[in-house]
Amino acid sequence: MNFEYRGLPWNIVFGHGSLASLPDRLAAMGLSRALVLSTPNQSDDGLLVCGLLGDKAAGLFDQAVMHVPETTVQLAIEDVKQKRADCTVSIGGGSTTGLGKALALKLGLPNIAVPTTFAGSEMTNIWGITGDEGKVTGRDDAVVPSLTLYDPELIMTLPAELAGPSGLNAMAQAVVNVAAPDANPMVSLMALEAVRILSASLPMVMERPTDPEPRCEALFGAMLAAAALGTGITSLHHRLCHTFGGTFNTPHAETHTVLLPHCVAYNAAATSQGTARVAQAMGVTNAAEGLFDLAARVGAPTALREIGVMESDLDRAVEVALANPVVNAEPVTPSRLRMLLQNAWSGASPAPITSQQ
Ligand code: NAD
Repeated sequence: MNFEYRGLPWNIVFGHGSLASLPDRLAAMGLSRALVLSTPNQSDDGLLVCGLLGDKAAGLFDQAVMHVPETTVQLAIEDVKQKRADCTVSIGGGSTTGLGKALALKLGLPNIAVPTTFAGSEMTNIWGITGDEGKVTGRDDAVVPSLTLYDPELIMTLPAELAGPSGLNAMAQAVVNVAAPDANPMVSLMALEAVRILSASLPMVMERPTDPEPRCEALFGAMLAAAALGTGITSLHHRLCHTFGGTFNTPHAETHTVLLPHCVAYNAAATSQGTARVAQAMGVTNAAEGLFDLAARVGAPTALREIGVMESDLDRAVEVALANPVVNAEPVTPSRLRMLLQNAWSGASPAPITSQQ
Protein backbone atom coordinates (compact mmCIF):
# COMPACT_ATOMS: atom_id res chain seq x y z
CA MET A 1 0.00 0.00 0.00
CA ASN A 2 1.35 3.46 -0.94
CA PHE A 3 -0.41 6.70 -0.16
CA GLU A 4 0.05 10.27 0.98
CA TYR A 5 -2.44 12.12 3.15
CA ARG A 6 -2.59 15.69 4.40
CA GLY A 7 -5.47 16.73 6.65
CA LEU A 8 -7.02 20.19 6.79
CA PRO A 9 -6.97 22.52 9.83
CA TRP A 10 -10.47 21.54 10.99
CA ASN A 11 -11.74 22.72 14.37
CA ILE A 12 -15.13 21.06 14.87
CA VAL A 13 -17.69 21.07 17.64
CA PHE A 14 -20.64 18.72 17.00
CA GLY A 15 -23.65 18.37 19.27
CA HIS A 16 -27.13 19.52 20.23
CA GLY A 17 -27.04 23.02 21.66
CA SER A 18 -23.47 23.69 20.52
CA LEU A 19 -24.48 27.05 19.02
CA ALA A 20 -24.95 28.37 22.57
CA SER A 21 -21.20 28.01 23.16
CA LEU A 22 -20.35 30.44 20.33
CA PRO A 23 -19.75 33.59 22.47
CA ASP A 24 -17.33 31.78 24.80
CA ARG A 25 -15.52 30.13 21.92
CA LEU A 26 -15.14 33.46 20.09
CA ALA A 27 -13.68 34.99 23.24
CA ALA A 28 -11.27 32.06 23.59
CA MET A 29 -10.13 32.72 20.03
CA GLY A 30 -9.51 36.39 20.85
CA LEU A 31 -12.32 37.57 18.55
CA SER A 32 -14.77 40.24 19.62
CA ARG A 33 -16.60 41.76 16.59
CA ALA A 34 -18.30 39.17 14.39
CA LEU A 35 -20.11 40.09 11.20
CA VAL A 36 -22.91 37.52 11.00
CA LEU A 37 -23.68 36.29 7.46
CA SER A 38 -26.93 34.73 6.18
CA THR A 39 -29.14 34.57 3.10
CA PRO A 40 -32.19 36.86 2.98
CA ASN A 41 -34.29 33.71 3.72
CA GLN A 42 -32.40 33.07 6.93
CA SER A 43 -32.11 36.61 8.26
CA ASP A 44 -34.07 35.47 11.35
CA ASP A 45 -31.35 32.89 12.04
CA GLY A 46 -28.77 35.63 11.53
CA LEU A 47 -30.55 37.90 14.01
CA LEU A 48 -30.73 35.02 16.48
CA VAL A 49 -26.93 34.65 16.30
CA CYS A 50 -26.50 38.43 16.68
CA GLY A 51 -28.68 38.27 19.81
CA LEU A 52 -26.65 35.38 21.17
CA LEU A 53 -23.40 37.25 20.57
CA GLY A 54 -24.62 40.50 22.14
CA ASP A 55 -21.79 43.07 22.09
CA LYS A 56 -19.57 40.60 20.21
CA ALA A 57 -21.79 41.04 17.12
CA ALA A 58 -20.70 43.75 14.69
CA GLY A 59 -23.96 43.36 12.74
CA LEU A 60 -25.78 41.20 10.19
CA PHE A 61 -25.08 40.96 6.45
CA ASP A 62 -28.03 38.96 5.10
CA GLN A 63 -27.38 39.14 1.36
CA ALA A 64 -25.59 35.82 0.76
CA VAL A 65 -26.77 34.12 -2.45
CA MET A 66 -25.95 30.93 -4.39
CA HIS A 67 -22.52 30.75 -6.10
CA VAL A 68 -21.00 33.78 -4.26
CA PRO A 69 -21.30 36.61 -6.83
CA GLU A 70 -18.31 38.98 -6.86
CA THR A 71 -20.73 41.92 -6.39
CA THR A 72 -21.98 40.38 -3.12
CA VAL A 73 -18.40 39.83 -1.95
CA GLN A 74 -17.62 43.51 -2.59
CA LEU A 75 -20.72 44.64 -0.65
CA ALA A 76 -19.75 42.36 2.23
CA ILE A 77 -16.17 43.70 2.21
CA GLU A 78 -17.55 47.25 2.56
CA ASP A 79 -19.69 46.07 5.48
CA VAL A 80 -16.72 44.38 7.18
CA LYS A 81 -14.72 47.61 6.92
CA GLN A 82 -17.55 49.89 7.98
CA LYS A 83 -18.43 47.75 10.99
CA ARG A 84 -14.77 47.01 11.84
CA ALA A 85 -15.50 43.29 12.06
CA ASP A 86 -12.66 40.98 13.12
CA CYS A 87 -14.32 37.73 11.92
CA THR A 88 -17.42 36.37 10.22
CA VAL A 89 -20.00 33.87 11.47
CA SER A 90 -21.89 32.20 8.60
CA ILE A 91 -25.21 30.64 9.55
CA GLY A 92 -26.71 28.74 6.63
CA GLY A 93 -25.93 26.39 3.79
CA GLY A 94 -23.12 26.31 1.25
CA SER A 95 -24.00 29.73 -0.17
CA THR A 96 -23.46 31.50 3.16
CA THR A 97 -20.41 29.45 4.12
CA GLY A 98 -19.06 30.27 0.65
CA LEU A 99 -19.34 34.01 1.33
CA GLY A 100 -17.43 33.59 4.61
CA LYS A 101 -14.76 31.68 2.70
CA ALA A 102 -14.51 34.41 0.04
CA LEU A 103 -13.96 37.03 2.76
CA ALA A 104 -11.33 34.80 4.39
CA LEU A 105 -9.59 34.55 1.02
CA LYS A 106 -9.72 38.27 0.20
CA LEU A 107 -9.26 39.80 3.67
CA GLY A 108 -7.63 37.02 5.70
CA LEU A 109 -10.64 37.29 8.03
CA PRO A 110 -11.23 34.31 10.37
CA ASN A 111 -14.51 32.61 9.42
CA ILE A 112 -16.74 30.60 11.71
CA ALA A 113 -19.32 28.28 10.14
CA VAL A 114 -22.66 27.21 11.56
CA PRO A 115 -24.03 24.86 8.87
CA THR A 116 -27.79 24.39 8.39
CA THR A 117 -27.75 22.09 5.31
CA PHE A 118 -25.83 18.96 4.31
CA ALA A 119 -23.70 20.80 1.68
CA GLY A 120 -20.48 20.44 3.69
CA SER A 121 -18.58 23.42 2.27
CA GLU A 122 -17.21 24.13 5.77
CA MET A 123 -15.09 20.93 5.64
CA THR A 124 -13.31 21.74 2.37
CA ASN A 125 -10.62 24.17 1.31
CA ILE A 126 -12.50 24.83 -1.94
CA TRP A 127 -13.65 28.40 -2.57
CA GLY A 128 -15.72 29.75 -5.46
CA ILE A 129 -16.56 33.28 -6.62
CA THR A 130 -18.75 34.10 -9.63
CA GLY A 131 -17.85 37.10 -11.79
CA ASP A 132 -18.39 38.17 -15.40
CA GLU A 133 -16.26 35.27 -16.62
CA GLY A 134 -18.33 32.67 -14.74
CA LYS A 135 -17.51 30.84 -11.51
CA VAL A 136 -13.83 30.64 -10.58
CA THR A 137 -12.89 28.03 -7.98
CA GLY A 138 -9.67 27.12 -6.21
CA ARG A 139 -8.27 25.33 -3.18
CA ASP A 140 -6.68 27.29 -0.32
CA ASP A 141 -6.39 26.16 3.31
CA ALA A 142 -6.88 29.80 4.38
CA VAL A 143 -10.62 29.47 3.65
CA VAL A 144 -11.17 26.49 5.98
CA PRO A 145 -13.28 27.84 8.86
CA SER A 146 -11.36 28.59 12.07
CA LEU A 147 -14.28 26.95 13.88
CA THR A 148 -17.33 24.96 12.76
CA LEU A 149 -20.27 24.47 15.10
CA TYR A 150 -22.52 21.62 13.98
CA ASP A 151 -25.73 22.00 15.94
CA PRO A 152 -28.24 19.37 14.66
CA GLU A 153 -31.16 21.45 15.98
CA LEU A 154 -30.53 23.91 13.14
CA ILE A 155 -31.16 21.19 10.54
CA MET A 156 -34.71 20.63 11.84
CA THR A 157 -36.06 23.56 9.82
CA LEU A 158 -34.56 22.34 6.52
CA PRO A 159 -37.62 21.56 4.34
CA ALA A 160 -37.84 18.04 2.86
CA GLU A 161 -37.50 19.33 -0.70
CA LEU A 162 -34.10 20.82 0.22
CA ALA A 163 -32.99 18.05 2.60
CA GLY A 164 -33.15 15.24 0.01
CA PRO A 165 -31.03 16.88 -2.70
CA SER A 166 -28.71 18.40 -0.09
CA GLY A 167 -28.09 14.92 1.36
CA LEU A 168 -27.36 13.55 -2.10
CA ASN A 169 -24.96 16.44 -2.74
CA ALA A 170 -23.08 15.14 0.30
CA MET A 171 -23.34 11.57 -0.96
CA ALA A 172 -21.64 12.61 -4.22
CA GLN A 173 -18.65 14.00 -2.30
CA ALA A 174 -18.17 10.59 -0.68
CA VAL A 175 -18.98 8.35 -3.65
CA VAL A 176 -16.46 9.93 -6.05
CA ASN A 177 -13.79 9.34 -3.44
CA VAL A 178 -14.51 5.59 -3.15
CA ALA A 179 -15.51 4.77 -6.73
CA ALA A 180 -12.12 5.92 -7.98
CA PRO A 181 -8.98 4.14 -9.12
CA ASP A 182 -6.33 4.15 -6.37
CA ALA A 183 -8.75 5.65 -3.83
CA ASN A 184 -6.80 7.06 -0.90
CA PRO A 185 -7.33 4.69 2.08
CA MET A 186 -7.61 7.53 4.63
CA VAL A 187 -10.13 9.39 2.49
CA SER A 188 -12.02 6.14 1.80
CA LEU A 189 -12.46 5.51 5.52
CA MET A 190 -14.45 8.69 5.91
CA ALA A 191 -16.15 8.39 2.54
CA LEU A 192 -17.40 4.83 3.04
CA GLU A 193 -18.76 5.61 6.48
CA ALA A 194 -20.48 8.65 4.97
CA VAL A 195 -22.09 6.51 2.24
CA ARG A 196 -23.30 4.02 4.86
CA ILE A 197 -24.73 6.70 7.17
CA LEU A 198 -26.31 8.85 4.45
CA SER A 199 -27.99 5.96 2.62
CA ALA A 200 -29.54 4.76 5.88
CA SER A 201 -30.51 8.13 7.35
CA LEU A 202 -31.79 10.14 4.36
CA PRO A 203 -34.92 8.02 3.77
CA MET A 204 -35.60 8.25 7.54
CA VAL A 205 -35.30 12.06 7.35
CA MET A 206 -38.14 11.97 4.80
CA GLU A 207 -40.26 9.41 6.63
CA ARG A 208 -39.90 11.04 10.05
CA PRO A 209 -39.44 14.76 9.32
CA THR A 210 -39.85 15.84 12.95
CA ASP A 211 -37.51 13.20 14.42
CA PRO A 212 -34.14 14.81 15.26
CA GLU A 213 -32.23 11.49 15.26
CA PRO A 214 -32.02 10.76 11.50
CA ARG A 215 -31.25 14.42 10.79
CA CYS A 216 -28.42 14.35 13.31
CA GLU A 217 -27.08 11.13 11.72
CA ALA A 218 -27.32 12.63 8.24
CA LEU A 219 -25.47 15.77 9.39
CA PHE A 220 -22.61 13.62 10.72
CA GLY A 221 -22.59 11.64 7.45
CA ALA A 222 -22.50 14.89 5.47
CA MET A 223 -19.59 16.13 7.59
CA LEU A 224 -17.61 12.96 6.83
CA ALA A 225 -18.46 13.13 3.12
CA ALA A 226 -17.22 16.71 2.90
CA ALA A 227 -14.08 15.79 4.83
CA ALA A 228 -13.45 13.19 2.11
CA LEU A 229 -13.96 15.80 -0.62
CA GLY A 230 -11.79 18.30 1.26
CA THR A 231 -8.82 15.95 1.34
CA GLY A 232 -9.72 13.88 -1.72
CA ILE A 233 -10.53 14.30 -5.39
CA THR A 234 -13.15 15.43 -7.84
CA SER A 235 -13.72 13.87 -11.29
CA LEU A 236 -16.18 13.86 -14.20
CA HIS A 237 -19.15 14.17 -11.85
CA HIS A 238 -18.04 17.48 -10.33
CA ARG A 239 -16.98 18.79 -13.76
CA LEU A 240 -20.50 18.18 -15.06
CA CYS A 241 -22.18 19.75 -12.01
CA HIS A 242 -19.96 22.81 -12.42
CA THR A 243 -20.82 22.92 -16.14
CA PHE A 244 -24.59 22.84 -15.61
CA GLY A 245 -24.54 25.20 -12.61
CA GLY A 246 -22.19 27.68 -14.29
CA THR A 247 -23.65 27.63 -17.83
CA PHE A 248 -27.34 26.89 -17.29
CA ASN A 249 -27.76 28.08 -13.70
CA THR A 250 -29.24 24.79 -12.52
CA PRO A 251 -29.80 24.41 -8.75
CA HIS A 252 -26.62 23.05 -7.12
CA ALA A 253 -27.77 20.11 -4.97
CA GLU A 254 -30.39 18.90 -7.48
CA THR A 255 -27.77 18.87 -10.27
CA HIS A 256 -25.61 16.56 -8.13
CA THR A 257 -28.58 14.34 -7.41
CA VAL A 258 -29.44 13.82 -11.07
CA LEU A 259 -25.92 13.33 -12.42
CA LEU A 260 -24.35 11.14 -9.73
CA PRO A 261 -25.91 7.76 -10.70
CA HIS A 262 -25.01 8.30 -14.38
CA CYS A 263 -21.39 9.23 -13.59
CA VAL A 264 -21.05 6.19 -11.31
CA ALA A 265 -22.42 3.92 -14.09
CA TYR A 266 -20.06 5.55 -16.61
CA ASN A 267 -17.01 4.81 -14.44
CA ALA A 268 -18.18 1.43 -13.12
CA ALA A 269 -15.94 -0.76 -15.30
CA ALA A 270 -12.82 1.32 -14.56
CA THR A 271 -13.53 1.50 -10.82
CA SER A 272 -15.12 -1.91 -10.24
CA GLN A 273 -13.59 -2.48 -6.79
CA GLY A 274 -14.54 0.94 -5.45
CA THR A 275 -17.99 0.84 -7.00
CA ALA A 276 -18.61 -2.54 -5.33
CA ARG A 277 -17.57 -1.03 -1.99
CA VAL A 278 -20.08 1.81 -2.47
CA ALA A 279 -22.81 -0.74 -3.24
CA GLN A 280 -21.89 -2.79 -0.18
CA ALA A 281 -21.98 0.29 2.07
CA MET A 282 -25.42 1.13 0.67
CA GLY A 283 -26.68 -2.45 1.06
CA VAL A 284 -27.51 -2.76 -2.66
CA THR A 285 -26.12 -4.86 -5.50
CA ASN A 286 -25.51 -2.04 -8.01
CA ALA A 287 -24.19 1.34 -6.80
CA ALA A 288 -25.48 3.43 -9.72
CA GLU A 289 -28.97 1.95 -9.54
CA GLY A 290 -28.94 2.22 -5.74
CA LEU A 291 -28.15 5.95 -5.97
CA PHE A 292 -30.86 6.46 -8.60
CA ASP A 293 -33.41 4.68 -6.39
CA LEU A 294 -32.28 6.63 -3.31
CA ALA A 295 -32.85 9.93 -5.14
CA ALA A 296 -36.38 8.84 -6.05
CA ARG A 297 -37.00 7.63 -2.48
CA VAL A 298 -36.10 11.00 -0.98
CA GLY A 299 -38.28 12.81 -3.52
CA ALA A 300 -35.33 14.42 -5.32
CA PRO A 301 -35.31 15.04 -9.09
CA THR A 302 -33.88 12.25 -11.27
CA ALA A 303 -33.83 13.98 -14.69
CA LEU A 304 -32.06 17.08 -16.01
CA ARG A 305 -35.27 18.05 -17.81
CA GLU A 306 -36.91 18.42 -14.36
CA ILE A 307 -34.39 21.09 -13.29
CA GLY A 308 -34.62 23.47 -16.21
CA VAL A 309 -32.25 21.90 -18.77
CA MET A 310 -33.50 21.78 -22.39
CA GLU A 311 -32.57 18.86 -24.63
CA SER A 312 -31.04 21.43 -27.00
CA ASP A 313 -28.61 22.48 -24.21
CA LEU A 314 -26.88 19.10 -24.13
CA ASP A 315 -24.47 19.64 -27.07
CA ARG A 316 -23.32 22.92 -25.55
CA ALA A 317 -22.88 21.20 -22.16
CA VAL A 318 -20.54 18.62 -23.76
CA GLU A 319 -18.48 21.44 -25.31
CA VAL A 320 -18.20 23.37 -22.04
CA ALA A 321 -17.44 20.27 -19.95
CA LEU A 322 -14.64 19.16 -22.27
CA ALA A 323 -13.16 22.61 -22.94
CA ASN A 324 -10.41 21.65 -20.47
CA PRO A 325 -9.02 18.16 -19.87
CA VAL A 326 -10.95 16.21 -17.25
CA VAL A 327 -9.24 13.78 -14.87
CA ASN A 328 -11.50 10.73 -14.76
CA ALA A 329 -11.15 6.95 -14.38
CA GLU A 330 -12.85 6.19 -17.71
CA PRO A 331 -11.75 8.20 -20.76
CA VAL A 332 -14.32 10.88 -21.60
CA THR A 333 -15.10 11.38 -25.29
CA PRO A 334 -17.69 13.81 -26.65
CA SER A 335 -19.92 11.06 -28.03
CA ARG A 336 -19.94 8.99 -24.83
CA LEU A 337 -20.52 12.06 -22.71
CA ARG A 338 -23.41 13.09 -24.97
CA MET A 339 -25.01 9.66 -24.39
CA LEU A 340 -24.56 9.98 -20.64
CA LEU A 341 -26.23 13.39 -20.71
CA GLN A 342 -29.11 12.13 -22.87
CA ASN A 343 -29.84 9.44 -20.26
CA ALA A 344 -29.55 11.95 -17.42
CA TRP A 345 -31.77 14.43 -19.26
CA SER A 346 -34.58 11.98 -19.89
CA GLY A 347 -34.47 10.37 -16.44
CA ALA A 348 -33.52 6.92 -17.78
CA SER A 349 -31.94 4.38 -15.40
CA PRO A 350 -28.17 4.84 -15.21
CA ALA A 351 -26.33 2.57 -17.64
CA PRO A 352 -22.69 2.01 -18.54
CA ILE A 353 -21.79 3.62 -21.88
CA THR A 354 -19.26 1.53 -23.73
CA SER A 355 -16.78 3.00 -26.20
CA GLN A 356 -18.40 0.93 -28.99
CA GLN A 357 -21.78 2.69 -28.62
P1 NAD B 1 -27.92 27.23 -0.01
O1 NAD B 1 -26.90 27.57 0.98
O2 NAD B 1 -28.05 28.12 -1.20
O3 NAD B 1 -29.32 27.11 0.73
C1 NAD B 1 -30.53 26.96 -0.05
C2 NAD B 1 -31.66 27.74 0.61
O4 NAD B 1 -32.05 27.05 1.78
C3 NAD B 1 -31.25 29.14 1.06
O5 NAD B 1 -32.31 30.04 0.81
C4 NAD B 1 -31.01 28.98 2.54
O6 NAD B 1 -31.16 30.17 3.26
C5 NAD B 1 -32.06 27.95 2.89
N1 NAD B 1 -31.73 27.16 4.08
C6 NAD B 1 -30.53 26.64 4.41
N2 NAD B 1 -30.64 25.97 5.57
C7 NAD B 1 -31.90 26.05 5.98
C8 NAD B 1 -32.62 25.54 7.10
N3 NAD B 1 -32.04 24.75 8.01
N4 NAD B 1 -33.91 25.86 7.21
C9 NAD B 1 -34.55 26.59 6.26
N5 NAD B 1 -33.92 27.09 5.17
C10 NAD B 1 -32.62 26.81 5.03
O7 NAD B 1 -27.74 25.74 -0.59
P2 NAD B 1 -26.66 24.61 -0.30
O8 NAD B 1 -27.08 23.46 -1.14
O9 NAD B 1 -26.47 24.40 1.15
O10 NAD B 1 -25.31 25.22 -0.87
C11 NAD B 1 -25.10 25.37 -2.26
C12 NAD B 1 -23.87 26.21 -2.51
O11 NAD B 1 -22.77 25.68 -1.77
C13 NAD B 1 -23.44 26.21 -3.97
O12 NAD B 1 -23.04 27.51 -4.34
C14 NAD B 1 -22.25 25.27 -4.00
O13 NAD B 1 -21.34 25.57 -5.04
C15 NAD B 1 -21.66 25.48 -2.63
N6 NAD B 1 -20.89 24.31 -2.11
C16 NAD B 1 -19.57 24.47 -1.95
C17 NAD B 1 -18.81 23.42 -1.47
C18 NAD B 1 -17.34 23.62 -1.27
O14 NAD B 1 -16.65 22.70 -0.85
N7 NAD B 1 -16.82 24.79 -1.56
C19 NAD B 1 -19.41 22.21 -1.14
C20 NAD B 1 -20.79 22.08 -1.31
C21 NAD B 1 -21.54 23.15 -1.79
